[in-house]
Amino acid sequence: MSAGAKGMKGPAGGGARRGRTPVSKESLMDEAMKARDASYSPYSRFAVGAALLAASGRVHRGCNVENASFGLTCCAERTALFKAVSEGDLDFVAVAVTARTGHGAPPCGACRQVLAEFSPDMMVYWRDTRGRILEKKLSALLPDLFDFMDHGKKRSEGGRAGREDNR
Ligand SMILES: [Zn+2]
Repeated sequence: MSAGAKGMKGPAGGGARRGRTPVSKESLMDEAMKARDASYSPYSRFAVGAALLAASGRVHRGCNVENASFGLTCCAERTALFKAVSEGDLDFVAVAVTARTGHGAPPCGACRQVLAEFSPDMMVYWRDTRGRILEKKLSALLPDLFDFMDHGKKRSEGGRAGREDNR
């Protein structure tokens, strides 16, 4: 928690903060839609936004960031995840993802793996082509994730402790 330094704009520093107030899937999806406004997608024109709810109560927004070298493009979910981790959050409750109207946008395989590194049991919300919010546990979307070592052990011993070692 100490890494979540108090910023000048409010207690959260970066990203919206809901404190301990429960965040509904609808409001998390609203955050994802706001995140989508920042999408850098001049090549595909397929804007995507994600909002990642951390166990701390912070909501981290992310958008897809494309590149002229297409393979270097980063999805909205990973943008949000990397922002969150860089700001001290390692445990997550849920992520909402949205693309343009009429397009469902569950996380791609790469994002499922990256999200599962931290919280394989988090909820994932996305919208179907009619705009309805669908939901599934990440572990259901990625049942056999690549796991270098035991997740519980890694998160309690190697995760935060590893960061301490690097200071
Ligand atoms: Zn992705």
